[in-house]
Amino acid sequence: AKEAGRNTYQYYSQDALARTQRRLDIEHALNGAIDRDEFSLVYQPLVHAVGDQPPSIEALLRWESARLGPCSPAEFIPIAEKCGEIIRIGDWVLDEVCRQARVWQQAGLSFDRVAVNVSALQLRERGFAERVIALCNRHGWSPTRLELELTESALIRDTDALRQCFDVFERHGVPLAVDDFGTGFSNLHYLNRFPVQRLKIDRSFVQGMLHDAGTAEVTQAIVHLGHALGMRVVAEGVETPAEASMLQRQGCDELQGYLFSQPLRPREMVQWLRSSQE
Ligand code: C2E
Ligand code: CA
Ligand code: CA
Ligand code: CA
Repeated sequence: AKEAGRNTYQYYSQDALARTQRRLDIEHALNGAIDRDEFSLVYQPLVHAVGDQPPSIEALLRWESARLGPCSPAEFIPIAEKCGEIIRIGDWVLDEVCRQARVWQQAGLSFDRVAVNVSALQLRERGFAERVIALCNRHGWSPTRLELELTESALIRDTDALRQCFDVFERHGVPLAVDDFGTGFSNLHYLNRFPVQRLKIDRSFVQGMLHDAGTAEVTQAIVHLGHALGMRVVAEGVETPAEASMLQRQGCDELQGYLFSQPLRPREMVQWLRSSQE
């Protein structure tokens, strides 16, 4: 038994070692990744549940490291946050999204907002809001059409700096969405404190709603809550027509997921927009 115990211990410590090594490899490879042009964006449409108003588009980051190969944002974003690299990466994403959106607009494609995922660390960075506005101006992209998707964890700290940041966004009409809504904190005070326009129901709820009545109650409650506060509600991770029609019946405003489209390379996104306009 003692022997087995020791083996288990060795097994776990090797596992922990491998994970630490992987984290260090990623941290190392992130260094200079922007200059090596290793990042790109893919785009996923958000469609209206009812009617045929133009869709919106969420930008999702992709990283093909020369050293490590493709690496998913779920794996590298938390590491980029820990080592501080997320600030520069986040700026790159915002810059690229505004540039791309402007190009698409000038090509006559019709869409509403472009949405960008923003880390809590970016929000806390001095002058972030001003930088976002300056970036929009530089690219000739209206700040009212650049939506920032924030997680609940970014909104729980009510500091002066955060408040100033949101004042700037509000003054320029930058729409804010709460991403992964329902998975974070149960304290909802921030919904009244900050100028949030949209709630995004996390995909875990959407995936459960057809199999579990309780989960369907949760999505319905989020829709009611959002509407009561004057917000729009979006569901992410919609994969089947049955999920879409249930969310539609519940009054959800916008839907996003593989049912409508996977995240697309820019050229594929253009084709998708063209064919959905026909
Ligand atoms: P998220 O913002 O909640 O994005 C939704 C994730 O679900 C994306 O994964 C998307 O590709 C995936 N997805 C979309 N539709 C479906 C569906 O129908 N079914 C399933 N199973 N999945 C679907 P992705 O691209 O791997 O991104 C993962 C997370 O990484 C994002 O979650 C977001 O939190 C973060 N992330 C991505 N890009 C950025 C970025 O530019 N900046 C920051 N800070 N975070 C980002
Ligand atoms: Ca998101
Ligand atoms: Ca999510
Ligand atoms: Ca997220």
